[in-house]
Amino acid sequence: MDYKQYIRVIPDFPQPGISFKDITTLLNRGDIYRQAIDELRVMVSDLKIDLIAGPEARGFVVGAPLAYALGVGFVPIRKSGKLPGETVEAGYDLEYGSDKLAMHNDAVKPGQNVLIADDLLATGGTISTSVNLVRQLGGNVAGAAFLIELAELNGRAKLPDVNVFSLVTY
Ligand code: IMP
Repeated sequence: MDYKQYIRVIPDFPQPGISFKDITTLLNRGDIYRQAIDELRVMVSDLKIDLIAGPEARGFVVGAPLAYALGVGFVPIRKSGKLPGETVEAGYDLEYGSDKLAMHNDAVKPGQNVLIADDLLATGGTISTSVNLVRQLGGNVAGAAFLIELAELNGRAKLPDVNVFSLVTY
């Protein structure tokens, strides 16, 4: 399946020079959305996954249906201050400034195999921070799955010991 025809590319968003990959046009097509999630499910089917963790907000849109399809639990990774229970946190640098992600500290049990899911791998900052959180709780990162990978930003370099799966590469 050529998923690119369903992904809208918007030039100069959110700032000049960025070519934004808009997945809302793919999500809008129920048949294509389902096919994409099913294809990811097949790609990760050998991993013996116990849980899927996804960073807000688009990580929920990929991770939750994938968790449903695999029959495993879903763990939300949120911006600092949003989760009600006790959390672990990890920070990462953005182009301007920095941000923190958080996960409930009882969300992953030591030794569980966790797949991390998001819509898109760019520089890898979001996912390497998510990997850090899962590992702080003693979880084993079984892999990371994406709809889209922006190859020239080389996010894989930030994930040297993680199995990376993606459906579409730009
Ligand atoms: P990274 O941390 O640089 O790998 O950026 C990945 C995060 O930024 C993901 O959570 C994406 O949702 C978001 N992101 C970056 N570029 C795009 C884009 O072109 N389209 C949609 N999301 C993007």
